[in-house]
Amino acid sequence: MSPKFLTADLSVAPQLTLGDIEEAARLGFRTIIDNRPDDEEAGQPKAEALAAHARRLGLEFVHQPVEPGQIGDAEVEAFSETILGCAKPVLAFCRTGTRSATLWALSRKGQQPAADIVSTAKAAGYDLSTLLPKLERGSRAHDVVIVGGGSAGIATAASLLRRRPGLDIVIVEPRDQHFYQPGWTMVGGGIFDPSETCRREADVIPTGATWVKGAVATFDPERNRVALEDGTILAYRMLVVAPGNVLDWKGVDGLEATLGRNGVTSNYSYETAPYTWDLVQGLREGVALFTQPPMPIKCAGAPQKAMYLSCDHWKRTGRLGEIEVAFHNAGAVLFGVKEYVPPLMRYVDDYGIDLQLESKLIAVDGPARRATFATKAGEITREFDMLHVCPPQRAPEFLARSPLADQAGYTEVDPATMRHVRYENVFGLGDGGSTPNAKTAAAARKQAPIVAVNLLAVLDGKAPKAVYDGYGSCPLTVERGRIVLAEFGYGGKLLPSFPKWVIDGQKPQRLSWWLKGQALPWIYWNGMLKGHEWLAKPQIADAA
Ligand code: FAD
Repeated sequence: MSPKFLTADLSVAPQLTLGDIEEAARLGFRTIIDNRPDDEEAGQPKAEALAAHARRLGLEFVHQPVEPGQIGDAEVEAFSETILGCAKPVLAFCRTGTRSATLWALSRKGQQPAADIVSTAKAAGYDLSTLLPKLERGSRAHDVVIVGGGSAGIATAASLLRRRPGLDIVIVEPRDQHFYQPGWTMVGGGIFDPSETCRREADVIPTGATWVKGAVATFDPERNRVALEDGTILAYRMLVVAPGNVLDWKGVDGLEATLGRNGVTSNYSYETAPYTWDLVQGLREGVALFTQPPMPIKCAGAPQKAMYLSCDHWKRTGRLGEIEVAFHNAGAVLFGVKEYVPPLMRYVDDYGIDLQLESKLIAVDGPARRATFATKAGEITREFDMLHVCPPQRAPEFLARSPLADQAGYTEVDPATMRHVRYENVFGLGDGGSTPNAKTAAAARKQAPIVAVNLLAVLDGKAPKAVYDGYGSCPLTVERGRIVLAEFGYGGKLLPSFPKWVIDGQKPQRLSWWLKGQALPWIYWNGMLKGHEWLAKPQIADAA
């Protein structure tokens, strides 16, 4: 048996025998697909016997027979779905391997240039050149390719489809899970269960959009293409770049090795946010340190939120007096918008927090429970019983080295229209964008409809007309039951969503807590990700 290599995930072969199945297992294949109907010729091993043997050897076996010359869309779709869902690498076979290779080739239609598909098959020994016209018909450009199926990417797709159903939108996203990250503060505070913050990615992809499960590796904006890590090429008319930012756990020496153990935690990860609450409940006395890295970071208030909710628990349980709490903030101020500093300082004082500004976490020794900070006065090392870390953050590498990036590595867009400053058919938003707003889901909620309006205008040959004012929001959970609701735009301009008599953002308020705990998660899943645009009506330039 000599399997012919098509991709890292798939090889094809002529009819397999029981012995060939054993060899396939030895070669590391994990799934066998049989594309041959039983009884095509005398002496052909039955699929059932092959399946039983494969399963005894720990391999998956799928019988998906196709008649020669009878390969239609249904057969190709079934083959694609099997490949997507099964353990890899896969070995597919038929009489000669041609049917399996053909199924693969047709499943790549529109994902890769037709000539590449045919030449890959040729190198494996299968001449599929007669498929070229059919493959070329499928390789047209998508109306919109969206890079990233997080908060910003999904909201944009939903807003586009609300305005123009039938638009051909592809969302490229590598993860199976979609997270409501603002909920992680509440997980770390013992208020939400982690499961409330996570849904299957497949369940948030808007109806009408196509999910390509994969990661973009390179941008080619001159030729309107992106290439995925598996080599797939996607051509587009309009591109939306929304890959978020990167949590640089390696940016603090020793952090990654000890995160989630030795009293070191972070609400910035789905895996460790529950550990924050475990530590808070378990700590009876000692030292608790909370850290904040240099800007830009997503939700600049989240490091403080973790601290206030922890202090509130220790206060309610009568332990706060036994716990020394310090906030080591790499920045020079407690919060970037001055109007919110006084109410926050009242909590800092009330909880007795030692506020250390311009103090940056640079190393953690988990087993020894020691954290080292760079300060103006030089390095200092402190012992701790609990350490809550907000990791340093940066632009994704594949974006930073692309022609789309600004100097800091983020998608360089116009702050008002969200359109790229050099490529007219490219938009960028969310944490991966260059706009100087607070990197929050609230910002993405406002940006998505603006991108949708402007992208459709450009697609129709018109000028972008919706403008973004830099709105972002940070609900600071100063205690269980009360929130200081910071809402502001470019330049720190206050942009409250409600009149002061409903919610005064500069005061800790119960209604804001209800907003954070009940209303906003609901609005996120049912409004923002579905294109309803509640609290996010786009501002149109003429009407502005
Ligand atoms: P993300 O939601 O992170 O999505 C980016 C997506 O891009 C990911 O799914 C990722 O897998 C994908 N991706 C990455 N690389 C590639 C690639 N190469 N190809 C294709 N796809 C790729 N915001 C608020 O509004 N209020 C809050 O109270 C709040 N609190 C927060 C608390 C914490 C602890 C954290 C961590 C965040 C908080 N945020 C808050 C911030 C908010 O979650 C983010 O600003 C928001 O999720 C940004 O959306 P995004 O789509 O830009 O990024």
